[in-house]
Amino acid sequence: MELKLQRLYNECKNELYGIGIDLNNELIGDISIGIGKRNCKRYGCCKQENPVKETKYIERVGRNRYIRYERYRSHKIEVSKWVMDLNEDIIKNTILHEIIHCFPNCSNHGEHFKKYAKYINTKLGYDIARVGNRKEDLLASNIESVAEKYNYKVECMTCGYSFFRKRLNCNFSRNYRCGKCGGRLQTEKGIFYKN
Ligand SMILES: [Zn+2]
Ligand SMILES: [Zn+2]
Repeated sequence: MELKLQRLYNECKNELYGIGIDLNNELIGDISIGIGKRNCKRYGCCKQENPVKETKYIERVGRNRYIRYERYRSHKIEVSKWVMDLNEDIIKNTILHEIIHCFPNCSNHGEHFKKYAKYINTKLGYDIARVGNRKEDLLASNIESVAEKYNYKVECMTCGYSFFRKRLNCNFSRNYRCGKCGGRLQTEKGIFYKN
């Protein structure tokens, strides 16, 4: 899977080069790419590291002020595992989206990000601004890999109805009864996956 990602990343790089965007550029910095280790439902993410201190600025959002940087020296792109099951066009769309986040002033989805996305979409026929048809894409993927993880299974001792919880308060089975039949509940601790 890593090889496939690397190959698609190289294809993206070459396509960008073809339209005048060279990723081997001091203004962009180093980019590394890998497959996300956690099972998360977003397509991918880009972690910015090593800010260029001279490009610091303050962003005001309402009353709050945030320290921001126009540029970073290194970027770690992660593509979520479930996305790797989808067709290559969607994977490359995700890669390109995250690559744009590596460009100066593009750590959010503001005007600079949109400008690049539009340029790449027009020149190369992608659909980058899309947040994605996540529901549809999740279904097309190997759904098991995005299953939610629960720590408790609760089962009714009378009718067998069961459900899952991440956390339980300690008196759960004493205080609650089955919602279907009013029977007593038993809880089992373990690791359970459910979509
Ligand atoms: Zn983004
Ligand atoms: Zn019951």
